[in-house]
Amino acid sequence: MSKQPLISVDEALTRILSTIDPLIGKQRTPLHDARGGILAEDLLAPCDQPPHRNSAMDGYALRGEDLPAEGKATLDLVGRSFAGEPWDGALQAGQSIRIMTGAVVPDGADTVIMQERVERDGDRITIGAGHQAGENVRHPGEDYRRGDRILAAGTRLGSAELALAASIGLDAIYTRRRPRVAICSTGDELKLANAPLGPGDIYDSNRALLTAELRQLPLEIIDLGIIADDREQVRRTFEQAAQFADMLITSGGVSVGEADYIKEILDEIGQVELWRIAIKPGKPLAYGALGKTRFFGLPGNPVSALITLRQFVLPALKRMGGAHPHPPLRFLVPLKGDLRKRPGRREYQRGILAADDSGAPVVRGVGAQGSHLLTSLAKANCLIILPEESSGAQDGEPVLVEPMGDRL
Ligand code: AMP
Ligand code: MG
Repeated sequence: MSKQPLISVDEALTRILSTIDPLIGKQRTPLHDARGGILAEDLLAPCDQPPHRNSAMDGYALRGEDLPAEGKATLDLVGRSFAGEPWDGALQAGQSIRIMTGAVVPDGADTVIMQERVERDGDRITIGAGHQAGENVRHPGEDYRRGDRILAAGTRLGSAELALAASIGLDAIYTRRRPRVAICSTGDELKLANAPLGPGDIYDSNRALLTAELRQLPLEIIDLGIIADDREQVRRTFEQAAQFADMLITSGGVSVGEADYIKEILDEIGQVELWRIAIKPGKPLAYGALGKTRFFGLPGNPVSALITLRQFVLPALKRMGGAHPHPPLRFLVPLKGDLRKRPGRREYQRGILAADDSGAPVVRGVGAQGSHLLTSLAKANCLIILPEESSGAQDGEPVLVEPMGDRL
């Protein structure tokens, strides 16, 4: 047994990130394929947005000074401006035009009155008091100005970012090269789907769990299947992955059991940079390198594997993929019920975040917290983070919550 002190979660993450450089390389990607990708270069606006003064309403454009302070005013209707079909005149005193949302507001006009507030009689309109000069007009550059950096390199591309790129007339952009990530499960007891289970066997669930979680990020995932608890097989898998992968992720075989060879082989043919972290669940996590390939040996229990993946592997992959560092969203929420914990390691308990009857957020534990319990993972939509020195939390106490975004 190692008597070395455990490495704190914060120190482990800092040390891991300090060993990772963003990958070189970018590819031109059609916008419709770019969602989730990382933008490889800044996008600058070639023009103002909106490009012209336009109407925020369907209604009538006029001069603000023609609005009645009290009583009513009647104006001549002299033309129309539709979206994509501007009116090319200039408005004179006492005149108005029909205008639609998004249509150019013509010279001379500075105000749009919504159609519901106007009485129309042929070529004349009548407007009551109570309007403001300038209302319902959208100005050039309100969204962004020519030359503005509308998206910075390193931005993760979601729907809003892709719409911004489309708004400057692009149909393809440069995205960063996606890290190539090899993944395998290790353990003599693990079986593939549809295989008969012998005594002591279980089906491999970690590859399904971890692969699905990894798919949140822009990655090329290579599935290496199940590896037996066998020195030679582990060694061959490591050597093979080191040929093509930017990262290898294994699960199982990193504790101190008789058949736990992962760390030993890593030590033999690569470098162990960290092993054993003050985290629960997930203490035996191993991190290191096989040549240029970064290596994570996650613990075998599914919940431990998932939590260490979220806390260490995903941040490392984000950095490798060139994404802006983005600490996960965490906030304090009052606890419902009690949670128990022993002082020592930082604990990530599975929780359920919800709104109480008054609409305020509240969080409770899922009950049994064993790191082999997939059903309790399936109930959870957040992690409750209890600090190292804590010995638990009581009903009503604020606790730190990290939502699992895709489970909310
Ligand atoms: P290990 O870290 O190899 O000692 O594994 C710890 C526990 O996790 C054992 O009960 C294993 O059977 C279980 N385990 C390991 N790998 C997997 C996997 N891929 N799927 C499901 N359970 C696993
Ligand atoms: Mg094992």
